[in-house]
Amino acid sequence: MKALVYHGPGEKSWEEVPDPVILKPTDAIVKIDTTTICGTDLHILKGDVPAVAPGRILGHEGVGTITEVGSAVTDLAVGDHVIISCVSACGKCDFCKKGVYSHCRADEGAPGIGWIFGHLIDGTQAELVRVPFAETSLYRVPDGVPDELAVLISDILPTGHEIGVRYGAVSPGDVVAVVGAGPVGLAAMATAGLYGPSRVIAIDTDANRVEQAKRFGATDGVVATDPDWKEQVFALTDGLGVDVAIEAVGIPRTWDMSLELVRPAGHVANVGVHGAPVSFHLEEKWIENLTVTTGLVNTDTSPMLIKLLAQGKLDVAGFVSHHFALSDILSAYDTFSRAAETKALKVILTA
Ligand code: NAD
Ligand code: ZN
Repeated sequence: MKALVYHGPGEKSWEEVPDPVILKPTDAIVKIDTTTICGTDLHILKGDVPAVAPGRILGHEGVGTITEVGSAVTDLAVGDHVIISCVSACGKCDFCKKGVYSHCRADEGAPGIGWIFGHLIDGTQAELVRVPFAETSLYRVPDGVPDELAVLISDILPTGHEIGVRYGAVSPGDVVAVVGAGPVGLAAMATAGLYGPSRVIAIDTDANRVEQAKRFGATDGVVATDPDWKEQVFALTDGLGVDVAIEAVGIPRTWDMSLELVRPAGHVANVGVHGAPVSFHLEEKWIENLTVTTGLVNTDTSPMLIKLLAQGKLDVAGFVSHHFALSDILSAYDTFSRAAETKALKVILTA
């Protein structure tokens, strides 16, 4: 088969590799119908994630058709059309039982990443992929949900929902600020709406992204390069600050912004993956009764999000900005990596 193989920092190629095979009775082999590229893939390609060694097939988001199942897989069958979760979880260990699939103790992690999870497995930017623990890592695509929306369940919708909105405890009437209006921030805005906030404020340095966010649940937008960005947010909150600040960028500046925006007794939910240290001034902040959360996507809310997609209650079709053939994945990477210029949000690759 053909696959996108990582060959060390800055190097990748679309090349012939051996087909994956069933290694454990709980595995399935899935033929990729639709996949996409995530910002995390770009981090890996830059060499920011040294645990991903050259030779690894990238990609952790995908929708496909099962071509083979291991002997222990009884809930799924050849021909099933499925969403591949970005987290492979056994469903049986203490962490899985609590819904914390991202910390599953079984030794087979996330396709194409795997770095935090131990054992590395190959990813979804390929014609075929082996999925460990198929019964807990694959979800059937409901009728009427197109692949290009279903693929958003692999990673970004549960990430924005679980680590942003649910950890941030968004509640009816809350004023929510989402710092960063990339795909993950937009996923947080779109799912925040499920909990009845009074306002959702999109904050980004890119005025175009701030404007776009209003199609996905943002009621207000603030351009972070405006000198009075903070005053603009406070003017929307009776001068008190927001109830929930969701950080969806992953740099020290936006972490600081999130802490500056939140009112006493509010929540700061960090979603961004930080490559550099951030500071937290407990000597000033201890008095503010804050709740600060962070984490890795669990995917425990994927079944709920799939239902909402099927019912048409999550309007995220506009997340998709570009379409490519899977065999043209190098062009897709080029477009995605120049997002500021190309206005790429989610690029869809179809086999
Ligand atoms: P992205 O790069 O597409 O979007 C980031 C956005 O932040 C961009 O729109 C950019 O213009 C904006 N931005 C940059 N600097 C800013 C500033 N100073 N102020 C305001 N906005 C600024 O990224 P994404 O794919 O949406 O992902 C967002 C973050 O979520 C990344 O750090 C990613 O690694 C992380 N992530 C976390 C998890 C998890 O499990 N916690 C899962 C997936 C992704
Ligand atoms: Zn991802």
